[in-house]
Amino acid sequence: MKESIKKKADHYIAHTYGRYDVAFVRGEGATLWDSNGKSYTDFVSGIAVCNLGHAHPGVAKALAEQAMKLVHVSNLYYTEPQADLAEWLVSHSFADKVFFCNSGAEANEAAIKLARRYHYVKGDSKRDTIITMAMSFHGRTMATLTATGQDKIKEGFAPVLPGFDYVPYNDIEALSAKMSDRICAVMLEPLQGEGGICCPDPGYLKNVRDLCDQHGALLIFDEIQTGMGRTGTLFAYEHENVPPDIMSLAKALGNGLPIGAMLAKDEIMSAFTPGSHASTFGGTPLVTAAALHVVKTMERENIVDSGREKGLYLASKLETLKAKHPVAVDVRGRGLLLGMKIMVEGAQVVKACQERGFLINCVQGNILRFIPPLTITKEEIDALSECLDSVLATYK
Ligand SMILES: *Cc1c(COP(=O)(O)O)cnc(C)c1O
Repeated sequence: MKESIKKKADHYIAHTYGRYDVAFVRGEGATLWDSNGKSYTDFVSGIAVCNLGHAHPGVAKALAEQAMKLVHVSNLYYTEPQADLAEWLVSHSFADKVFFCNSGAEANEAAIKLARRYHYVKGDSKRDTIITMAMSFHGRTMATLTATGQDKIKEGFAPVLPGFDYVPYNDIEALSAKMSDRICAVMLEPLQGEGGICCPDPGYLKNVRDLCDQHGALLIFDEIQTGMGRTGTLFAYEHENVPPDIMSLAKALGNGLPIGAMLAKDEIMSAFTPGSHASTFGGTPLVTAAALHVVKTMERENIVDSGREKGLYLASKLETLKAKHPVAVDVRGRGLLLGMKIMVEGAQVVKACQERGFLINCVQGNILRFIPPLTITKEEIDALSECLDSVLATYK
């Protein structure tokens, strides 16, 4: 890469990211080009963001057209793209209403605030505790890092917020033991992404739903990573038909444009009244016009169904590799949110793949994560699995 980019970035930008020595300049579909002209097939998608691939021409056109019409006016006023996108999200989910914001953490903040306020409005403000899961990831703001069930995310930021408690994922007894009339909500990912691609056991989400109903607590699903077709259905809650009361979305909603959304049933969302929550940039005409184009393209081109098929294909390739290479010990995940646990440092494998022109990443140290655009082709999957075959073969 151009040494000058790295030098300047390292000099002027906060060092909150451990970055690879590569600067990208262009993308198309699942292909990225770096500043030396080398190409890569992208199985990261900007962390499950660019579901339609890079530089999607339709999205680019929608964005450019909207940019020349109207970019931002404030939520003091109505705009059509925002209303259209909300209508699409409501008509394709359990929810009745949408609150727009700019990121995943902000969508979860809105979910946490709404859950607390819902009970407050009902005169039940002693319900102050939100239960989340060990190994969860909900974001980096103070409330969402408190909600996150991983100590490393909280290190150095004490005091974290009161009003949160934690249980292990997939442990319904542990959750049951914590339920009481103090519980405001249970918040979880319907498939843990950052925590290691952990799937819910069959029936688990239904049991969580039932416990919430029995105890008057709200159920919040963080679908920021799992949503928008990533796991093979539009939303991961559809796999077992367990709708939450509140859902957060972000990552893939705008195919790279910064947009978040918090969705809920009317009865719950009505706890938010004018002045109780807001976001200056939330749902600008620019990002909602782009996101509207994204969701309509997904629908018209059956992206969720084809993504699910590609996911099965990639999973079968990973299973074959696991059977062949003892260093690979587990394949997990759903749709195109797949992981492979290996018995060596994942960073080495990520680096070796990058040298061979494939971007993958790694969570929890040794779980390789595969989150390509949902438009990835079988040929691209074949090429990745050949690459992995040769990399894994170096660990005997
Ligand atoms: C990425 C992610 C977040 C945080 O989203 P940001 O846009 O980075 O704030 C929250 N929850 C889950 C499940 C995520 O994957």
